[in-house]
Amino acid sequence: MRLTIASNLKEIDRHRHHGPVIAVLECPNVNLMKTGVRVLDDFPCVNIPSNARDCQYQTLGWQIVAAKIGMQRCAASSQWLNERISLSRYAHVPLGNFELDWLIHTADIFFSRALRDQQQVLWISDNGIPDLGGTTELESCFADEVNQPVLAYPGAYRKVAAELKLHHLAVNALLKSNQVNEMEGGALFGLDMDLNPGAHDINEMCCVDEAASCAPAFRVLKQLIQRCLADAVTSGNVFADALLQHLYRWICSPQSKLHDPAVHRMLHKVMQKVFALLLAEFRKLGATIIFANFSKVIIDTGKSDLSAAKAYCDSLLRTLQTRDLFEWIELEPLQFWHSLLFMDQYNYGGIQAKVHGGSPDSTSKPNNEGVHDESQVDIVSSWNIAENLPKATQDHFILVVSEFMYIPWKYAQEQEVIRASMRNGNSCTPSIAAATAETIESHVTEYIREQISSYFTDKLLRIVRDTILHWKGMSKSISDQHISYGDRQPVGNIHTADPALEFIKNVCAVLALDQHVQHNVLIMRKNLLKYVHVREFAPEAEFQNPSMSFTLPNVICSYCNDCRDIDLCRDRALLAQEWRCAVPQCGQPYDRGVMENALLQIVRQRERLYHLQDLVCHKCNQVKAAHLAEHCACAGSFRCKEGVSEFWNKMQGTLFVLIQSDHQNQTHQHKEKLMIWEVVIIHHDLKPFVMGRVLMNLRSLFDDREFA
Ligand SMILES: [Zn+2]
Ligand SMILES: [Zn+2]
Repeated sequence: MRLTIASNLKEIDRHRHHGPVIAVLECPNVNLMKTGVRVLDDFPCVNIPSNARDCQYQTLGWQIVAAKIGMQRCAASSQWLNERISLSRYAHVPLGNFELDWLIHTADIFFSRALRDQQQVLWISDNGIPDLGGTTELESCFADEVNQPVLAYPGAYRKVAAELKLHHLAVNALLKSNQVNEMEGGALFGLDMDLNPGAHDINEMCCVDEAASCAPAFRVLKQLIQRCLADAVTSGNVFADALLQHLYRWICSPQSKLHDPAVHRMLHKVMQKVFALLLAEFRKLGATIIFANFSKVIIDTGKSDLSAAKAYCDSLLRTLQTRDLFEWIELEPLQFWHSLLFMDQYNYGGIQAKVHGGSPDSTSKPNNEGVHDESQVDIVSSWNIAENLPKATQDHFILVVSEFMYIPWKYAQEQEVIRASMRNGNSCTPSIAAATAETIESHVTEYIREQISSYFTDKLLRIVRDTILHWKGMSKSISDQHISYGDRQPVGNIHTADPALEFIKNVCAVLALDQHVQHNVLIMRKNLLKYVHVREFAPEAEFQNPSMSFTLPNVICSYCNDCRDIDLCRDRALLAQEWRCAVPQCGQPYDRGVMENALLQIVRQRERLYHLQDLVCHKCNQVKAAHLAEHCACAGSFRCKEGVSEFWNKMQGTLFVLIQSDHQNQTHQHKEKLMIWEVVIIHHDLKPFVMGRVLMNLRSLFDDREFA
């Protein structure tokens, strides 16, 4: 096959009458291909990223599969090349010079051009720490990790809830930064350099804080994004649009050569402000926030009818659009829930509303809304806490929780139908309608209470009894096995020996989310606990959400450029198999080296921040200002702002990931990884007592695995 490529290329080379020729390569190892096909050296080459799946063949009969894939890729390549050419025209970058992640690369180029136009010196560097020409001592001041705000209000929302995707928050924040700054009384940017740029000399520049020093760069960035926005809006340029969509990723990414943590933090600050204002506006317009982070907002619309909820949502979004401060924010309704039981981001369940091919269809026949046949109901359960239950009780857990959503909802639906048929007979005024709605609500609450004391209590007692019996039988045969299994559980999964107790704790914690019936659930819990001989307020009866979370932001697929934040501790797909892209057509494995490197960077940074933290007073909680004082002015003693246990908890997440990834890798390199950890810890001169503790924990964890 290589020979034919080579001879074909030679032929093209010989004739040379078609004008310029370019070789487009799509293979896993470009250098190998180039050494194999020497004639490629005569052509400019462009590389298409290759998918790892394309290299998986069976031993026999691989030719047909290979040829098929080859033809498909070949056919698709012309489209790819055309896109690349138009990108090259837009960015004014030679076709062959794009890097793998073209978005970051192009954004870097645009930014550096804009900075150069403003006579600024570029701080290009490869390691994500800006090269500002000073000593590397300053390096430690750069802290990239910012806390993404997450608001979660657990509860049972038995009215229609809407899930909205939040787009362009970063772009909006950047463009509206001046307004936000004004609202803050100019506190955001520190000293404003704009007022009289010639007035301060270099000495003055040195002592202004970080926020002020990055203000010029921030201003250039803003102008750049304004231009991109104009391109995207007026000429509909797809690349400008993509740049805007990936703005925040670019700002965050240490891969970017112009990455500046100060700019990142500045933008993050503005984003937080805009985000808070946006949520305040939501509340002002009558929505209840269930969950919100930078990319998603879930609201309780307070409507029991789906079409009314949709109409409300539309008007809400229209109103927000008219606010100048949120001009560029786009909110897109993703899905509606008839009923939602929400604990946190990873633990929720609900009855999803079917959207019949878009909203106009469902609004055109509102009569059908009330009548749901069983097959139409779509119950979603995403309960991460269930993962920690023994397999035998997991299904029961899901079933009970789903019923807890479904039974009251069905009852409310029936009541609605009855009310509608009554209303058909005699028309009534809106105030009476509102009153009946209220009575229905109280009926439903009353109904749930009844169901808990009768149906759910019976059912749960039965399950608990069965579980105990089942486990007694099981434990006789595999008792030794089970004990050893329980011992080497990775951090975070707390299996106690009693599956029935675990089941009771988890189910009751979920059911108690409904504030209206909390008391009844607690009574039921007490009775269930009695059954397993545990007192109601005993420490072992206390529910704690055992799963930890560790999010690695902005993981990018090298093949399809899909970008996502992955939770390495909670994502079941990741725990079960290799880390790979979630786009169904792609499935490209992620670059492990890059990901592990990013993890280590986070570890280093957290550890660095631990050492650089402030001391605060025990008594008055003020940060220590004097250098040598042993006691605060109020005579209180000082403590670290972030305690050892807090630090260790944070680190545990990363460690868990490390162990998990080892486990699925089956490479048994954990000794090596342990060494990396030791290097990280020792190199950064962790205080002896912290180090000792961390290492002890590390060793015990790894040693446990040794015995496995
Ligand atoms: Zn992909
Ligand atoms: Zn004090």
